[in-house]
Amino acid sequence: MKVFKFGGASLESVERIRQVAQIVQAFPDEKLLIVISAMAKTTNELEKVAENFFLRKREIAAQLLYNVEQSHLNVAEVLLGNRQHPVFIQLQQFFTEAEWTLGEKPMRQYDYYYDQLVGLGELLSTAIVSAYFNSIGLANTWLDVRDVFRTDDNFRDANIDWAYTQRQVTEKVAPLFDTLNIVITQGFIGSTDQNESVTLGREGSDYSAAVFANMLDAENQTIWKDVEGLKNADPKLFPNTVNIPEISYGEVIEMAYYGAQVIHPKTIKPLQNKQIPLLVKCFLDKNLPGTVIKETADVKRLPPIIVLKKNQVLLNITSKDYSFITEDKISDIYEIFHGLKVKINLMQNGAINFSCCIDNNPEKIELLIKTLHQQFKIVYNEGLELLTVRYYQTGLLEELSNGHTVLLEQRSPATIQRLWKK
Ligand code: ASP
Ligand code: MG
Repeated sequence: MKVFKFGGASLESVERIRQVAQIVQAFPDEKLLIVISAMAKTTNELEKVAENFFLRKREIAAQLLYNVEQSHLNVAEVLLGNRQHPVFIQLQQFFTEAEWTLGEKPMRQYDYYYDQLVGLGELLSTAIVSAYFNSIGLANTWLDVRDVFRTDDNFRDANIDWAYTQRQVTEKVAPLFDTLNIVITQGFIGSTDQNESVTLGREGSDYSAAVFANMLDAENQTIWKDVEGLKNADPKLFPNTVNIPEISYGEVIEMAYYGAQVIHPKTIKPLQNKQIPLLVKCFLDKNLPGTVIKETADVKRLPPIIVLKKNQVLLNITSKDYSFITEDKISDIYEIFHGLKVKINLMQNGAINFSCCIDNNPEKIELLIKTLHQQFKIVYNEGLELLTVRYYQTGLLEELSNGHTVLLEQRSPATIQRLWKK
């Protein structure tokens, strides 16, 4: 059994969906659990539907939903040849459910409505791909992952109930392979015990696939992307990037932690725990070697790994009355950050101050400042970038830093981080 994950870029157009089918056809004797995310930028469009609904701009929300509906119906029609196929009834049901949500008065928190609306993208894409695959002889069954992935009600970042979900996978998903080779299901979504839809965090389909791989004891998991494999830096930001043929779980988790947008950070743990290799491969050319992520990989063969996080803010928190910022105060500060779900990307402390770098989220920063300013003086600096280089070499570092004013720096033998202003 293998787990495949196809993301939005691989479903961007009819041609790409056909390419996905060709990849799957290249594994004729394999049992495949295929996790699919929403097509192209659908999730972003649905986020706008949710925002407008919550702001009670119902007509705009309905119009945006209609656009999503039409584009999906068109893709399905081209792939299936007409609109008579039963999948159109299924698609209509999904739209009707979303329209019902739009008809409600928003009485609950935003994140709840977000999850009821935004997960639609995955339901649509999987239904279309499943119907198309069946129509070209790739016999498969469509699975509603919300019947399998049970979570808590931490909307937009729901946590999987591992024991319950494992039971569902063993009892409901594994037996599907007795009669079929392919099961197609959604990434990114799940459901609470009240049957409310949830999402697992943006880009969460990689993680969904890893949960399945773990629970089905898969031989490996492949993430099919539009790039060659994992690179040592984002090619959109840096010239001369190189492909990494082999890398350890630990290294990838660090890269993701520092902000590399390669793989969802939660993906590694379920795979590492069962020693399931993760392959990153290019769906445009499946013969390219790609990257293998596994327990041990030769660190000496790794190039310097560069991650740049943009739109950062430096917060300087200083005690007003000159009292020391020691463990007790730091724990208060962390409590506040934790309460507001603000992640600290880099921190440093001195006698009476604490500096940290966080993503620029104006609403959260305003709340942070409001809460902190009773005890502390706050100065903040925005428009910054956080550079992280693993296995750095001095020449490269100076080249990268050229023309920037460094505001904070931290280094260990393996890693350097510089927060700078352009
Ligand atoms: N469609 C979701 C997103 O764009 C999940 C994913 O792509 O993994 O965030
Ligand atoms: Mg996506």
